[in-house]
Amino acid sequence: MTDKKTIYLDNSATTQVHPEIKDTILPYLEDLYGNPSSIHAKGQEVKKTIDNARKQVADLIGAKETEIIFTGSGTEANNLALKGIASKNKNKGNHIITTRIEHKSILNSARWLETEGFKVTYLNVDENGTVDINQLKEEIRPETILVSVMFANNEMGTIQPIKEIGEFLKGKGIYFHTDAVQAAGKIKINLKELNIDLLTLSGHKIHGPKGIGALYIRKGTEIDPMIHGGGQEKNIRSGTENVPGIVGLGKAAEIANKNLESNIEHLTNLGKKLEKGIFKEIPDLILNGHPDNRIPGNVNISFKYVEGESIMLMLDCEGICVSTGSACTSKSLKPSYVLDAMGKEIVFMHGSIRFSIGTFNTEEEIDTVIKTLPTIIKKLRALSPIYNKD
Ligand code: PLP
Repeated sequence: MTDKKTIYLDNSATTQVHPEIKDTILPYLEDLYGNPSSIHAKGQEVKKTIDNARKQVADLIGAKETEIIFTGSGTEANNLALKGIASKNKNKGNHIITTRIEHKSILNSARWLETEGFKVTYLNVDENGTVDINQLKEEIRPETILVSVMFANNEMGTIQPIKEIGEFLKGKGIYFHTDAVQAAGKIKINLKELNIDLLTLSGHKIHGPKGIGALYIRKGTEIDPMIHGGGQEKNIRSGTENVPGIVGLGKAAEIANKNLESNIEHLTNLGKKLEKGIFKEIPDLILNGHPDNRIPGNVNISFKYVEGESIMLMLDCEGICVSTGSACTSKSLKPSYVLDAMGKEIVFMHGSIRFSIGTFNTEEEIDTVIKTLPTIIKKLRALSPIYNKD
């Protein structure tokens, strides 16, 4: 449990493990240590639990349990989706389409594939962070084998038009992958109503353990393994299973599914309260991302004239954990590639803070943040050389 003083508003980075999940995992670190590949009873009791976890994960997204492959993380699932599809389908074509705002596990997999001879198109987004579907339509070529568009963005929360993209790709013989790491458990995902071939999930974003992910692979999808070995996970992802991780992800998916509606309501209410409170108390700021079509609980705000890093550190001193997209990479003065893709002015890009609210946050915590933040911004603006003090 988070200690009393900390107000943790960085749930898009990771979440605390749900106490119920901790209790579910523990026996698999104690007596239930069998190898699920073993034929004896000790192995088979664990195999049953893995099958159950597969069903729990499948149920969260409206898939069949036979279509779920456990991986070592969301990052690994994204690597497998892009590289596995590219490798298996290279005789059909060498063109992949993704977006400029994907998580690095997609962008860097795509860049690596470029070094292997694949051509990649990176789609633009508008000022709200929504992908340009017309550009997607124009960029399709006979050699296009895969489109990968994230369900919702980790930084500014915008939800992408996944249903429309799936509809458009139907019957074109192009695989459609979506990274749903930030969307799962926060919005309803029903694969029965969406034309998606591959979908990525991660345990630690939904109150499960770290180091466990899953890839939904629709039946009939042609994909090569990226990790070779003893043939576990239908020979698509070898390696003795991370049993406590899988059990934890399964339970996390079950809880997320059971509480989906109340969780959405809770995150939406606290998110709106925080956004309203900050806008009421502080001038010169903008909300980043789509005003409505965004992940509940994601509030990404740019404070003009100040550095996001300074705000983050001063909030940290008050026991409030948030994150910033303002840190410059060593090669560029542009802070966040996501805000850059949205065409934000540099003065706003530098002052961005992401508050990501989670299941365990309370109204009182949000009140404390609304009370604490104006003084911090005032202090930092007083020090800012670009702030007009008149
Ligand atoms: N995709 C998105 C959108 C994410 O936000 C993250 C984690 O931040 C990942 C993928 C990677 O997941 P993992 O931390 O399980 O590797």
